[in-house]
Amino acid sequence: MDDLFSEACARALDAADPLPGLRGEFLVPRHGDGEQAYFCGNSLGLQPRRARVFVEEALEKWANEAVEGHFTAPAQWMTYHELVRDPLAELVGARPIEVVAMNTLTANLHLMMASFYRPGDGRDAILVEAGSFPSDRYAVESQLRFHGVDPARALVEVQPDGPGGTVSMAAIERAIGEHRDRLALVLWPGVQYRTGQAFDLAAIARMAHEAGAMAGFDLAHSVGNLPLALHDSGADFAVWCHYKYLNAGPGAVAGCFVHERHARTNRPRLAGWWGHEAATRFRMGPDFIPTPGAEGWQLSNPPVLALAPLRASLELFSRAGMPALRARSQRLTGYLQALIDARLGDTLEVLTPRESSQRGCQLSLRVAGGRERGRSLFEHLCRHGVLGDWREPDVIRISPVPLYNTHADVLRFAREVERWRTTRSAP
Ligand SMILES: *Cc1c(COP(=O)(O)O)cnc(C)c1O
Repeated sequence: MDDLFSEACARALDAADPLPGLRGEFLVPRHGDGEQAYFCGNSLGLQPRRARVFVEEALEKWANEAVEGHFTAPAQWMTYHELVRDPLAELVGARPIEVVAMNTLTANLHLMMASFYRPGDGRDAILVEAGSFPSDRYAVESQLRFHGVDPARALVEVQPDGPGGTVSMAAIERAIGEHRDRLALVLWPGVQYRTGQAFDLAAIARMAHEAGAMAGFDLAHSVGNLPLALHDSGADFAVWCHYKYLNAGPGAVAGCFVHERHARTNRPRLAGWWGHEAATRFRMGPDFIPTPGAEGWQLSNPPVLALAPLRASLELFSRAGMPALRARSQRLTGYLQALIDARLGDTLEVLTPRESSQRGCQLSLRVAGGRERGRSLFEHLCRHGVLGDWREPDVIRISPVPLYNTHADVLRFAREVERWRTTRSAP
């Protein structure tokens, strides 16, 4: 295997892989006579073939049974969200009572902050990373204003202090320590979307709690990417979406975790009828009695058509198992890193930490020479069926997903970068 760049090498690595992946279970977009090398699972995961089965099942039920579909097995709509609860709990390392699929990520973040960001007693600050995902930032800032708190004073941002725009645990610890008497909430990503850096959630939750603050996590780029142990992490809440590594389709219903210690909380919440205790919901009484656990934060009856594809995807996660997927993910991303180290270091700077415990599958690659050169490479890759995604001003994100990407895909990326470099340096 002395030539990592040979097709024989990529083929051998694929053939020898103990978890060959489940590419055949997905619809991979075409490119010419073949398939794309699709590395955008961090943005929109591919469609599981069986997603259509579950969507059609719901459409058929609607056609044939109309309102009765709420009550008739299998997969009655009344309790449709429960169909994904156990596999989701398993996937994020939570108890079933701690998770629910509902709404969208940003909506869930607002619902969680409505309950877990309660300024008062001199504590009103929220600690976030500088450069957080815009929607998270807008949500946090608007929550502060909603409570009449000035973001200029109460939004504490931790600046990157490491290579490639990464943030050290020491910087987080310092910031929490510095503001410990006024912190109400620490909101942190599991994996940073721009750099691909993964964080030790249990350590961050512990630091937040020691300072007397709540700990919440945005796991948009973590769920389905890294093994999670949410219950044990001690986090108060977490939110995530299902259209990235969870392959549940554009705008799919999102996920939410509320730690069991809050299962019967009497904190204020923004309520809707589907959060009402199920046994008495249909008495339609005026008083809200919450269902214990995360389901108590549901607002509305489950959007069945937007939940159906998630069932197909969770089947595949259950079949492969997250530990085996993570091991395969480390092999694929390790191969990508090795190819870059071997021959592409003058073109691509890896911003993501090298240490595999500090990253998931994504590598964020800065193209040497600035934006124009970066765009030229990115467009070359697209034209040749290698799909990454672009982050201004000069970063290409490549995310080999263990469910459907292969070593051959990874090699194809590296060889196209080489080919582009050759044409660029020609006179
Ligand atoms: C993808 C992503 C979002 C998207 O929010 P939606 O409400 O699903 O549109 C928000 N935050 C982070 C960190 C993300 O990665």
